[in-house]
Amino acid sequence: MDLLIGTSNAGKLAELQELLGGADVQLLSLKDVALDHMDVAEDATTLEENAELKVNAYSQASGLVTLADDTGLFVDALDSRPGIYPARYGGPGLTPKDRRQKLLGELQGVPAEKRTARFACVIAVANPQTGETTSVRGVCEGQIALEEDLGGGGFGYDPVFIPTGYDVTFSSIALDEKNRISHRGLAVALIIPVLRRMASTS
Ligand code: IMP
Repeated sequence: MDLLIGTSNAGKLAELQELLGGADVQLLSLKDVALDHMDVAEDATTLEENAELKVNAYSQASGLVTLADDTGLFVDALDSRPGIYPARYGGPGLTPKDRRQKLLGELQGVPAEKRTARFACVIAVANPQTGETTSVRGVCEGQIALEEDLGGGGFGYDPVFIPTGYDVTFSSIALDEKNRISHRGLAVALIIPVLRRMASTS
């Protein structure tokens, strides 16, 4: 079965391609189907609704079974900010590094034990032939580092997120290990049986 990955975020695409490598599906990117310039307005109040907005838009435009994810970062000491719109945290025009610096700035003086946080990833799959849309959620607990780690790997907030049980950030954890424990890795594990079922009935 062909599966369109509905994201234009290069970091997410790389992780999803790696995670779905063994899932017996033929992966296509938005570029492969010339939808990489299609903009989907995300204006909902939950990760589930935003993932479904994206997946439905791309699956209807392409006619393909499509997978999309929506990810949030929730920091306890900041009343759950950045929240469900981490790419907008701090306002428009900022780079990922600017957003990380803003987060570290807001947490200045907050001790390690009070820097608890979690990533949540909702993955939605839509089948335009049957009209079925299913979503699942993976969560990764951790804490925000005291300073940015320039380990070089990962993307987005990875250089400031230390998953529980580790003493380094996602930036310094190899991709296959991040994928084993991450919000996105856990969500993919839950969606694979759904994809298998769709493939067997298509
Ligand atoms: P969205 O899910 O496309 O709305 O984007 C969420 C934003 O959160 C991205 O632009 C990244 O900056 C960030 N993000 C999403 N997933 C991860 C991750 O696994 N690690 C670090 N940052 C992430």
